[in-house]
Amino acid sequence: MSGEHSNREGHRNAAGPNELKFETRLLHFGQEIDEATGASSVPLYQASTFHHHDIHSPPLHDYSRSGNPTRQVLEDYIAQLERGACGFAYASGMAAISSTLMLLSSGDHVIVTEDVYGGTYRLLTSILSRLGIECTFVDMTNLDQVKEALRSTTKAVYMETPSNPTLKITDIEAVSCWAREEGLLTILDNTFMTPLYQRPIEFGVDIVLHSATKFLSGHSDVLAGLAVARTEELGQRLKQLQNGLGTVLGVQDSWLLMRGMKTLGARMAHSEQSAAKLAAWLSGRSDIQAVHYPGLFHHPGREIHEKQSSGYGAVVSFDVGSGQRAKEVLNAVKLPLVAVSLGAVESILSYPAMMSHAAMGEQVRHERGITDGLLRFSVGLEDIDDLISDLSQALEASI
Ligand SMILES: *Cc1c(COP(=O)(O)O)cnc(C)c1O
Repeated sequence: MSGEHSNREGHRNAAGPNELKFETRLLHFGQEIDEATGASSVPLYQASTFHHHDIHSPPLHDYSRSGNPTRQVLEDYIAQLERGACGFAYASGMAAISSTLMLLSSGDHVIVTEDVYGGTYRLLTSILSRLGIECTFVDMTNLDQVKEALRSTTKAVYMETPSNPTLKITDIEAVSCWAREEGLLTILDNTFMTPLYQRPIEFGVDIVLHSATKFLSGHSDVLAGLAVARTEELGQRLKQLQNGLGTVLGVQDSWLLMRGMKTLGARMAHSEQSAAKLAAWLSGRSDIQAVHYPGLFHHPGREIHEKQSSGYGAVVSFDVGSGQRAKEVLNAVKLPLVAVSLGAVESILSYPAMMSHAAMGEQVRHERGITDGLLRFSVGLEDIDDLISDLSQALEASI
């Protein structure tokens, strides 16, 4: 399906879009200019249904739940960026995740990274469990633990790397290679890295998922999810689920998401540089208990991360020592949004214990390193000196 509708592919770009560098492909993906009018952006086909000019030959798209030309461009775009066969766009990241997990049936078992996104944890433990889909949470950084969780009913392995919010690193190739030997499907939530920095399909993963609400759209104004299947065959199964469940992304949001994705390279590069400075500055402070950032020299997963990713991302988490102090810092900062979410032009400071991971019991949360003093900083496009002086005054006010 990727490129199926892109007659311009290899046309203006003599080399073909796949041979261009990633940042170029964000802008020149084959369908960026409207074929009919030359318009500089993809037309919004705000239509639910499509006329049959001739009842003997149905139109390419017949109903927007099953397919919409604007959404299709987005779906081809993400498939091309992730180097997969087919892409799918959903109403939210959770819609992408839940629709994909509907590949499983009652009695099936899935092995899941223990520091999975809070919403995915809730989906698995309170909804899919009711449908007879079982899961085991493991420390995915430890391949032996992954292997020990295997049952005769295991059908899939679900990864997230770097994980949220403690930024632990899973060896994508090692887990995928083992899973393939065991005949298991591999799924990876690539929200934190985006295809700019990490393309899991190249390391053997079958399905890549995104909360496109975050870095891909990038402006805290769209809720969206994406999935990319490695093969056409898997793509057809996802297509049936997307259409059957009706979890599709609307036309306006498909357009807005593509608008955001064009600037992914520039936004990420700026934010990452700032995140590295923030992580270094935090590491040098004696009043900070721990700093998690895959680019830090002492990060335990750094070598594996560098093998499979070309960047470290824009999220830094750090422990200010206590829940009391974390709350004081949240109330004292003046620049970042204090909010759930990440990956936007403006910096966002989150408190996982009370926000994204509130659904997790306190004991489980602490076991997974999500301490009461842990804050997560998603670095935006502000000047880093301003962000650091703001955080500095907030930390000093709360000592
Ligand atoms: C936000 C997020 C999700 C859920 O996405 P929504 O768009 O909020 O539904 C899933 N995974 C990760 C890693 C996230 O950060």
